[in-house]
Amino acid sequence: MAFDVTTLRDTVLVADGAWGTELDKRGVPAGYCREEWNVSNPAVVESVAAAYVEAGSQIILTNTFTGNRFILERHGFGDRDAEFSRAGAAVSKRAAGDRALVFGSIGPSGKMVMTGEVSDEDLYGVFKTQAMALAEGGADGIVCETMTELAEALAALRAVKENTSLPVVVSLTYDSGPDKTATMMGVTPRQAAEQLTAAGADLIGCNCGTGIDNYIVVVRLLREATDRPIWAKPNAGLPELHGDKIVYKESPAEFAAKVPRLIEAGASVVGGCCGTSPEFIREVRKVVGG
Ligand SMILES: [Zn+2]
Repeated sequence: MAFDVTTLRDTVLVADGAWGTELDKRGVPAGYCREEWNVSNPAVVESVAAAYVEAGSQIILTNTFTGNRFILERHGFGDRDAEFSRAGAAVSKRAAGDRALVFGSIGPSGKMVMTGEVSDEDLYGVFKTQAMALAEGGADGIVCETMTELAEALAALRAVKENTSLPVVVSLTYDSGPDKTATMMGVTPRQAAEQLTAAGADLIGCNCGTGIDNYIVVVRLLREATDRPIWAKPNAGLPELHGDKIVYKESPAEFAAKVPRLIEAGASVVGGCCGTSPEFIREVRKVVGG
């Protein structure tokens, strides 16, 4: 099943929800490198992917969010980035079969261009390795997600476009500024949408950071600034600190009830981020239908 972006002109697709918490529930030790399980415990990782397919996700991601070399180096796995991403894509493809598309997840590098901590070229190289490995593993598309710095998002986008032929989503996290519609690095939805569209992103997205209420506003702002389909994966409301634990209070039904307004605002792909689970996706799919 190949992905055709033009179908999103008149269809809404349901993506998946959070992966980290699902993997932790299944026994990844706290602080351990989740991507390593793509190789050492692929059946467990596949069970997360399968749970989302069962729940009705039409696009699932991969367990590769922190699978770039810079973050893997912290775990002593800096030389295994390609291996982990290739395996992550293959695991999700097995679970998806012909029932869902697989978009390979590329998350932030953990380094900033603005402070001079990393160069655009070094970022490009790290993302190039991950993008090529995800493509080799069989991904149908790539999503560069949870980015806050435009320079990093653009480096990731260029790495995907120049080294694979896959459609690419670039999704930033909007949770800062007076009305919570800018990224932590001060990027507005308009700036992101205009520059990412000009640089060739196939879909423009927002994920993590805040809940649906805020992302209805963000999606509208993105919609006004680009003709590309919009991807939206909000959290299950705002995080609350209970002791030393972060909890998300929104229920699957409460989350799903707000999805029609997210679609009205302009979202063509809808899923969830932190605090969401297969149960959320099941409720979202009921609302979206298809
Ligand atoms: Zn998140």
